[in-house]
Amino acid sequence: MEDCIFCKIANGELESEKIYETENVIAFLDINPKAPGHSLVIPKKHGKTLTELEDELIAEVFRVTKEVEKLLNRSIKPDAFTVGINEGEASGQEIPHLHVNIIPRFEDDGGVPIQAVVNNSPKEEISNIASKIRKASEK
Ligand code: AMP
Ligand code: ZN
Repeated sequence: MEDCIFCKIANGELESEKIYETENVIAFLDINPKAPGHSLVIPKKHGKTLTELEDELIAEVFRVTKEVEKLLNRSIKPDAFTVGINEGEASGQEIPHLHVNIIPRFEDDGGVPIQAVVNNSPKEEISNIASKIRKASEK
């Protein structure tokens, strides 16, 4: 997609600190890292969210995510990882090209678990919410 920074990284028009690549996926370091080794894994093909991409491509994105974790374990040696995707503007997605964040975590790094990014507890019983969601699969 024209004017997409991550499409430009994928096709080599824009430089990046590339760390791993497969036929359809590329991994590179985040330009504004939240931790040493903060990496992004993207499909080369443009798509904003998981639901816009083919299953096999998503599988490749997560296979690469696993490989990058192994590389980071051998090089940066973190204590843990936070792995996550911002999907849609309301979640904080600024670049509308799917990217999996791999953030190396360290004991006492001052970070929080991924569940702490939002505090919007439902007013409804979770059993009601679950039945609504289950009904969606009947359609
Ligand atoms: P998001 O808010 O989920 O869209 O996050 C976009 C991420 O991409 C941020 O963490 C940015 O630091 C990162 N980013 C933006 N431009 C570049 C770039 N040219 N190379 C590497 N990472 C980038
Ligand atoms: Zn793109």
